Amino acid sequence: MDAALILVVEDERTISNFICRALVSAGYKALPAATGGEAITLFFSHRPDLVLLDLGLPDMDGLEVLQQVASDPQRETPVIILSARDRESEKVKALDLGADDYIVKPFGVPEVLARIRTTLRHAERVRSATHGEKKLSYRVKDLTVDTARHQVFVGEKEIHLTQNEFKILELLCLHAGKVLTYDFIMKEVWGPYTTGGNQILRVNMANIRRKLGENPSEPKYVLTELGIGYRLLEEG
Ligand code: CA
Repeated sequence: MDAALILVVEDERTISNFICRALVSAGYKALPAATGGEAITLFFSHRPDLVLLDLGLPDMDGLEVLQQVASDPQRETPVIILSARDRESEKVKALDLGADDYIVKPFGVPEVLARIRTTLRHAERVRSATHGEKKLSYRVKDLTVDTARHQVFVGEKEIHLTQNEFKILELLCLHAGKVLTYDFIMKEVWGPYTTGGNQILRVNMANIRRKLGENPSEPKYVLTELGIGYRLLEEG
């Protein structure tokens, strides 16, 4: 496979240079954009494999760039948001608008590269799933989720989940490594017209964790992203 092309949308030149250099030395191709307008133009002319997107841009809100990128019907290009630490609601909004993940500033090279690898793998997994090559089972450490047979095992031990608990876990497996917002999970599992808070999801998640034998303070499988949602650790 060719080196993935990554569009780096960031107006601060030092950060942009730093990211682009790191990407190139990791074997990716990097395409910098310093404004939202430039980002949208380059996105449609170069068809990058992934977009790193700063939300604070000089000419427009980064969320607008995200909406344009996410509305591209040709392909679903993954987007990772570069976000300031204290902007929880902004992150949730971005994730609900279709961003795949976020990285909190300031960040280091290893984190950026790890998130990019996870996100590219995730995009590939979702592409296969939508082309009918749905995976039949997922493994995370000693957890096995057999989606064809609707069975869950921790080691050799079968775990009995309710239908909704299974749906939540299956959803987390399909998107392993990616943070899923409360809202996204609620809509996928309980339907688009679900109202009321996410208490029912929290209760289901607590049951799943208890059944899997998770220690809440040291989760092996499902991480809580405070105020945002849940993330299943990746396979392996
Ligand atoms: Ca900025």
